[in-house]
Amino acid sequence: MQQRTAFPVRPNPLGCLLLLLMGVWPTAMIGQLAPQTTTASPLPDDRYKADILVIVAHSDDEPAGYLIRAISDQHKRVAVLDGTRSQAGGNEVGYEQAAAIGEVREIEARRALASIGVFNVWFMSGTTDTPGDNVLRSLETWGHGAALEEAVRIVRLTRPEVILTWLPHFVVGENHGDHQASAVIATEAFDLAGDPTAFPEQVSFPRDRKGIGNLTEGLRPWQPEKLYFFSDASQMAFMKEQGPVYSAMDVSPSLHMPYYRAAALEESYYLTQGETGQAAKVALATGNFKYFQLPDRFILGKSLVGGTVTGDIFEGAVRGPIPFAPVCGYRPQVREGISIELGDPWAFYRKFWPAHGIGHLADLMKVPEIGVDPGGTLELPFLLHNDTDQPQSINLSVDLPSGWTEKAAATQYSVRPQDVYPVWFVLTAPTGNGGNWQQITWQAESRGQTVGSVIVKILLNAEDSRAGWGAGSISIR
Ligand SMILES: [Zn+2]
Repeated sequence: MQQRTAFPVRPNPLGCLLLLLMGVWPTAMIGQLAPQTTTASPLPDDRYKADILVIVAHSDDEPAGYLIRAISDQHKRVAVLDGTRSQAGGNEVGYEQAAAIGEVREIEARRALASIGVFNVWFMSGTTDTPGDNVLRSLETWGHGAALEEAVRIVRLTRPEVILTWLPHFVVGENHGDHQASAVIATEAFDLAGDPTAFPEQVSFPRDRKGIGNLTEGLRPWQPEKLYFFSDASQMAFMKEQGPVYSAMDVSPSLHMPYYRAAALEESYYLTQGETGQAAKVALATGNFKYFQLPDRFILGKSLVGGTVTGDIFEGAVRGPIPFAPVCGYRPQVREGISIELGDPWAFYRKFWPAHGIGHLADLMKVPEIGVDPGGTLELPFLLHNDTDQPQSINLSVDLPSGWTEKAAATQYSVRPQDVYPVWFVLTAPTGNGGNWQQITWQAESRGQTVGSVIVKILLNAEDSRAGWGAGSISIR
């Protein structure tokens, strides 16, 4: 007869299997599985919980005035994820450039954000600060997949109710491809962080959390509630009634100063940057805060918890978690016959917005717009679609206002059945007419019939807003 001991006895595996199949647990196994001590299972780390997660491209991109209001007077916790280390930026202070300016800008951002109470700040690694205005180029140089994985990780770590990001749209003044890339990735992360099948390694519990070498991350899925966009577009009329507006002239009850002054103090840390740090330094020295007195305007991307479009950013917000809210995703557009559309970012956004439940962004601007310096080159992408079963010859022509010239190029394109032909159209802008809006129409014809047209509004001398991207690189290539 087997003698019982005070120690668990290693059960015979075959015997255990047999007993388990019979629904009987061997005594020794029960002894082994019974909890010896009770250890509390830790909750997600509260030090990283944020009410607002700001996902932007560069140091100094954050909407400082609103964040100061939210932190100081609404007692919100804010975290920031910068998509790059701003290593392509200029330097108003010294010669430090390239990787070195990335190091400088990171510290500027950490000091600026810490000055308003933001201590949880992350910078994506492996991304490249990409001058230009084509979001698709920035997504490529950032490494879209890895950047999205990092954004989803930070959403799950910070568990925000609200995500603030740049506007995923191409508008004059808001043409920086990196800004738009951060907006695209933030929107995708909003929709994926609550999905446990997206980057599932992030939401797998480690086998032994106190041990080393765990290769899963132990985060929890998290569904944010509200998504808002901001913009540094030159013309703000399209943002009217699209979301809340916060006056920079209001006086902070806790700071006893107007938000514009508090914002200038925060931005004064960015001394390598002319349009923020240096401008703030001048404003604080002279008392002329003109550019800091602009209101903080937002566009409601979407809300999963109700609230009004122009109401406060936290209107309707509840302390999470809330259930995962899947978006409909991409649905192919049915095309017939021969058609023409603007390509690259415009074609992308037309698919991206409805796929992510922000289809109303298509209504912000009825006519696409772009800015160009007087005398500058404007390159526009077109897609010629042939959705017939026959080869088609398509002529592309443009009706140019006076002073514009067209770079000589083929104007007739042979498009295979059920195929698309990408065309870059290159124009040179007139040297005069600075500051004027002009409208240019492209026409596609086939067999003597007009089969489609594209109208674009063009701002000559796209003078930028305070925090905007310079007008020198407006053509979208
Ligand atoms: Zn920026």
